[in-house]
Amino acid sequence: MYNAKAYSAASATAPLAADSIERRDLTETDVQIEILFCGICHSDLHMVRDEWGGAVYPIVPGHEIVGRVTQVGSAVTKFKFGDQVGVGCMVDSDGTCRQCKEGFEQFCPNMTLTYNSPDKHLGGVTYGGYSDSVVVDQRFVLRVPPNLDLAGVAPLLCAGITTYSPLRHWGAIEGKKVGVVGLGGLGHMGVKLAHAMGAHVVVFTTSEGKKEDALRIGAHEVVVSRNPDEMQQHMGSFDFILDTVAADHDINAYLNLLARDGNLTLVGAPPKPLEVAAFSLIIGRRSLSGSNIGGIAETQEMLDFCGEHNITADVEVIPIQQVNEAYDRLLKSDVKYRFSIDMASLKSA
Ligand code: NAP
Ligand code: ZN
Repeated sequence: MYNAKAYSAASATAPLAADSIERRDLTETDVQIEILFCGICHSDLHMVRDEWGGAVYPIVPGHEIVGRVTQVGSAVTKFKFGDQVGVGCMVDSDGTCRQCKEGFEQFCPNMTLTYNSPDKHLGGVTYGGYSDSVVVDQRFVLRVPPNLDLAGVAPLLCAGITTYSPLRHWGAIEGKKVGVVGLGGLGHMGVKLAHAMGAHVVVFTTSEGKKEDALRIGAHEVVVSRNPDEMQQHMGSFDFILDTVAADHDINAYLNLLARDGNLTLVGAPPKPLEVAAFSLIIGRRSLSGSNIGGIAETQEMLDFCGEHNITADVEVIPIQQVNEAYDRLLKSDVKYRFSIDMASLKSA
């Protein structure tokens, strides 16, 4: 065991503050990573403030990790010292169940989340990426394409895969009309990825001020969702809508924009249940689904796709000392479009 620097929250109402945590010594198949950047996902805020329930304190959030390999276990074959790597929302799974065998580790009943999951090595719970280093089994470590800027790569590990996976699954390809609801961390990645896949992309935003940015990053049209006339123009026309909203909102307004057999997939995870009107689905044989990050092979596929298309997140790089202020801004939808923490700042914490 060794000590690592981190930022943790002591309770649902406490601000994040500097802390020291234990990391395990490497097993044969482990990779030790010096964390260079970690994105701030809205899930971190939901978890730290215990909005979904189940938080165990102290909690060290962070599941959009990029860094450099500093050490490898004796049986590690995938990575070597100095490699640029990423870690997302998962650090382990049983590897034997049907979900794991079919590449869906995110649905494994024994999956270990990067933070706040039981830690089979040290007891207690796992600690995430708001830290200077982490030890992860090589199966859950991803290769980062060398041409991409690391601060902007970090958010791909959650926001990227969470939008890539359903866009692929529901066929966001040329000739399809795809909506993205909410231009935050997930939403802006959804726009970039759907554009690169060739779809016609329409952004729905509550923030009039994000219109120009939406067009710049690849939207073909932008709808200010508070404006009923603009919404009306798109009635019954979408093949697919990806809903990334983190708070309570009316999803019927979006279901009604779907064409026949259209699908709306929720990736946003508001703590309160959403109300669905039966007729929003019955008319047009529409469907409503959810999606949870993506498997490890698909995450690598997404990173390689981003490498090929030169896609990274638009980030505001901040020192860790500004993390609490960043959370407050996240709640106001005031981030362009992901905070990425420069972990070098932890040295002076
Ligand atoms: P974010 O950066 O805060 O973006 C959410 C966006 O939703 C905001 O920027 C805003 O966009 C819109 N929005 C916020 N409040 C709204 C409201 N009351 N009504 C309508 N629109 C609103 O958050 P994020 O990191 O992208 O995460 C979004 C959600 O996805 C969170 O709930 C998070 O926990 C969840 N998530 C799920 C998965 C998964 O695997 N399913 C993975 C990661 C995150 P505009 O300003 O454009 O309106
Ligand atoms: Zn996330």
